[in-house]
Amino acid sequence: MDVLSVLTEKLEPGQSEWVNWSLYPLPWGGELATPVLLMRGGGPGPRVYISGGIHGDEHNGMEIVRRVAGGLDPAELSGDAVLIPIQNMSAFVYRQREVPWDGYDLNRRFPGDAGEWPSDRIAAALYEVISQCDYVIDLHSALRGGRCCPHIFVGPDDAPAQREAIQLAEAFGSDVIIAMRSGETYEGFQLDNALHVRAAYDGIPTVCVELGESDRIEKSFVQMGTRGVFNCLKHTGSLVGEPEELNRPLIVHEQVTVRSERAGFLLPAVDAGDEVAEGQLLAEVTQPTGKRYEVHSPVAGIITRLQVNGTAVPGDRIAVIAPRE
Ligand SMILES: [Zn+2]
Repeated sequence: MDVLSVLTEKLEPGQSEWVNWSLYPLPWGGELATPVLLMRGGGPGPRVYISGGIHGDEHNGMEIVRRVAGGLDPAELSGDAVLIPIQNMSAFVYRQREVPWDGYDLNRRFPGDAGEWPSDRIAAALYEVISQCDYVIDLHSALRGGRCCPHIFVGPDDAPAQREAIQLAEAFGSDVIIAMRSGETYEGFQLDNALHVRAAYDGIPTVCVELGESDRIEKSFVQMGTRGVFNCLKHTGSLVGEPEELNRPLIVHEQVTVRSERAGFLLPAVDAGDEVAEGQLLAEVTQPTGKRYEVHSPVAGIITRLQVNGTAVPGDRIAVIAPRE
């Protein structure tokens, strides 16, 4: 089914409809489909794509999209909205991050193609719609074992949409915005095929919002994220009104990852979102024999991601910090 033709041809201005978007054929002859709310505004305006669940175990974003869908009135909307709570349905069913059929991270496969891997084909099906939207608000949580304070990634500085993406991120509201420089990697990973990077290169202001933990629906982050999406919709002119006045986020180009050099039980001494000083204790790593090691922050800054599972081994991330320059 062509969701854009439903949006533009079937729906009248001021109407909306949940449809099942078929993204991939299934072995028994059915289709892998995911629910998407198509909303045609009462008047002209931008088309905004609001999404969660590119990683199948990140439930905060799914719940935020569900709440936004319930709170939006198409008659009050200018332009269109495409709201998709679960982009990676196969992974969601298995309660895992990656597409189960090939093990790939769907958020490293954009724009996708009709080529070798199921993840590429699912990415291509999604991107066919995304590429015809004017803004993207994509919602995430920390990789399993971590906790994120609200922070937002935007595309790199040689992408035409970076500036507008930063403005969209400022309207959303977060502690930190990470605006990478061209060619930089995130912890050694090249992100050119992440949605927020690919779309920014294609001129679509896109925010990749990180909130809380995987595998959970956390009330405070869901409330914060829902407010953030409505702020964005005011910023884009999709809704009347001004976004809330918010504290200015810290904008950084890159973050500092602090890793454990030891193995042991992990006891954090700080929380995600905390402001830390250079040299401050971040965590203790202890062993049953009584040995105890301390992990200290090499920089002053805000902790965007904290490891919260109970153990650490050498090389594990303890914290990711947005440095104060
Ligand atoms: Zn994610």
